[in-house]
Amino acid sequence: TISMAVIDKMGHVAAGTSTNGATFKIPGRVGDGPIPGSSAYADDEVGACGATGDGDIMMRFLPCYQVVESMRRGMEPRDAAMDAISRISRKYPDFVGAVFAINKKGVHAGACHGWTFQYSVRNSSMPDVEVFTVTS
Ligand code: ASP
Repeated sequence: TISMAVIDKMGHVAAGTSTNGATFKIPGRVGDGPIPGSSAYADDEVGACGATGDGDIMMRFLPCYQVVESMRRGMEPRDAAMDAISRISRKYPDFVGAVFAINKKGVHAGACHGWTFQYSVRNSSMPDVEVFTVTS
């Protein structure tokens, strides 16, 4: 899965997801990718979130909506990301997945469960993409 968020110079925030789907998915399966709030969510007033992992579990929690709403209520991206992941892992201890969160100011973070997660960032002051590694 590739989930992505962008903030343009006008401050507009957008997010999206492209996925091949879960391994061994059944034909016709609708995963988390097309569900708003599950694998991506954005709000110009707040920021954005993207997710990857076991979509059949994650889509029950709308983790990206949760992250954006937590940031709206004042949480830092790191706390919002960790909170969204822990809401899932409390109910599904074997779940494997991750989210990244970014607020309007460009502060970003990731959180994951069951694996090591990497995400990439680039802004106009960075000469190249930087990769961030998050452990659960
Ligand atoms: N979330 C995707 C799915 O469940 C899989 C992935 O993120 O790799 O279809």
